[in-house]
Amino acid sequence: MTEQYAPTAADVGTMYDQSTDLLSEVMGGNIHLGYWRDDEDDATVEQATDALTDMVGTRLALSPGDQVLDIGCGSGKPATRIAHTWGVHVTGVTISAQQAEIAAARPEVGTGQVSFRQADGMALPFPDAHFDNAYAIESFLHMSDRATAITEVARVLRPGGILVTANPYQQGELDAREAEIVADNRKLFQIPPIGNVDEYVAHMRKAGLEVLETLDIGENVRRSHTIAADLIRGVDKPSDGALSEELNRAADIIEHFGELPQIGYGLIVARRPCHPAGPAA
Ligand code: SAH
Repeated sequence: MTEQYAPTAADVGTMYDQSTDLLSEVMGGNIHLGYWRDDEDDATVEQATDALTDMVGTRLALSPGDQVLDIGCGSGKPATRIAHTWGVHVTGVTISAQQAEIAAARPEVGTGQVSFRQADGMALPFPDAHFDNAYAIESFLHMSDRATAITEVARVLRPGGILVTANPYQQGELDAREAEIVADNRKLFQIPPIGNVDEYVAHMRKAGLEVLETLDIGENVRRSHTIAADLIRGVDKPSDGALSEELNRAADIIEHFGELPQIGYGLIVARRPCHPAGPAA
């Protein structure tokens, strides 16, 4: 039953319109999980979430001046970081009107390093082969039609262009209690069935992309959930008791979700071939 639950792009946009301020506050300005090398790594949430952005950036094989697409750009922090570090121009799209506004207010927009707009990743408003590289951090996760979203990126990438994705995965069977936790988390964050690496890889191959690397960092990011849950419990609660209770419930869901060993996380690096060989079987 829960497997059928599939939010529309508008549902996802509304959820982020309402939650971006809170999520940015608890995730160090980014809206994605953090990367910690090991248990001894004492990086702050901001350092760890920036480190994940950098893992994506280093895999994009960027050259100064490249035109880069950020699909699901959040409040624009990853885009400005990548633009600044590698001297590229990043165009960010987000389904959330509120995020597009927050991102557009960044000073780097004035310098022309980054630009942002509201658009649907499943119907990108760009011509074919428009971008040198593209990345998507925790955005395909929300899309009900990932095959179309990935076909769209492949279309707007120039031949030889790289795509890097970062997403949570679900691998292995869930018992009834675990399935309930996953269902609660999917409702909270407007997520269709979470999907696994093989599904993403299959979509990429079907879109004509060549998969260069799959990197499992599930254990490096796991700490993020507990930290986010604790921070949400600690934020200044609205005077409205019901809202405050809702936040505490959200924190519990996030924490339990993060404890599930079946929930992994990975990066995938793919390339649009210079000479298309046709979709692989
Ligand atoms: N990549 C950002 C934000 C991640 S949160 C960061 O790492 O900080 C998920 C993002 O995906 C949000 O910006 C949300 O608006 C975007 N998103 C989800 N579904 C989308 C869709 N159909 N089209 C465009 N963006 C989408």
